[in-house]
Amino acid sequence: MPDAAYYNGQYTTLQQLQVSPDDRAFYFGDGVYEVVKVLDGRVFALELHLDRLYRSAAGIEVKIPWSRAEIAGVLADLLERSTYPNALTYFQISRGVAPRKHAYPPADTVPSLCAWVKPFHGLPKALHEEGAKAVIVADQRWPQAWIKSLNLLPNAMAADAARRAGAYEAILVDRDGLVNECSASNLFAVIDGVVRTAPKNRNILWGVSRHVALQCAQALGIRVQERAFSVPEMLYGDEVFLTSTSPDVLPIVNIDGHQISDGRPGPITRRLLAAFRHHIRTGEYTTR
Ligand code: PLP
Repeated sequence: MPDAAYYNGQYTTLQQLQVSPDDRAFYFGDGVYEVVKVLDGRVFALELHLDRLYRSAAGIEVKIPWSRAEIAGVLADLLERSTYPNALTYFQISRGVAPRKHAYPPADTVPSLCAWVKPFHGLPKALHEEGAKAVIVADQRWPQAWIKSLNLLPNAMAADAARRAGAYEAILVDRDGLVNECSASNLFAVIDGVVRTAPKNRNILWGVSRHVALQCAQALGIRVQERAFSVPEMLYGDEVFLTSTSPDVLPIVNIDGHQISDGRPGPITRRLLAAFRHHIRTGEYTTR
């Protein structure tokens, strides 16, 4: 079945989607985006994704002219057309279509909305059961990582360093040796029995899955600290895991060839993964 797609008022298929080369997304990566998961026909955490979409757009001085209901409506239309029970939906909003010039186009330029839906098959089971590998990469992104910008070149380069090393993810470390997050996920370490993750500041994306995982931890009575940790604290800690839309919670058992603890997914990670999946099925645990 062709994947359903949308661009500036037109519904089509991804295969037939035509976008303007003068869309500023194309020249400058001048826009923001979201990836939203659909499981058993239910959209996961849409409100949180919409919160972040509007926050990111405000961060790059783009005023979204559509209401939350209108954007949700496009998503619903695409899902109806695609009929996939499990899907990943992508939508991006750019500053709009205008002749190529760095400075912003005239104020009456209408932003572009592009969206599509593809089937979601999840990750291979073994990754969750056995844990994944990661590599450490210097964080070379701009100091506005909280904005979910289309500009993903440093993330793409880091992700490819991971791929070349046969690893699932690249862990982004700042100049002081503190762990920010990963190329496309947030990172957690269990240190002295406490789940640690970098705080919500400008240096990390405020992940939807991060939010859900923290709320699951709270519900389970697991101690949590939103405080950055160093590379040695992570390597010699008890457990490491990441969170992101596709994998939910994923154990990391090897970093740059160094085994974390006994090299198996740890008990806190496994409890959090189970709670996260329970939340997806039931909606229990989390609030905005
Ligand atoms: N951090 C970065 C840099 C990301 O790109 C992503 C997702 O793409 C995440 C974290 C995880 O965010 P979420 O849990 O909302 O998928």
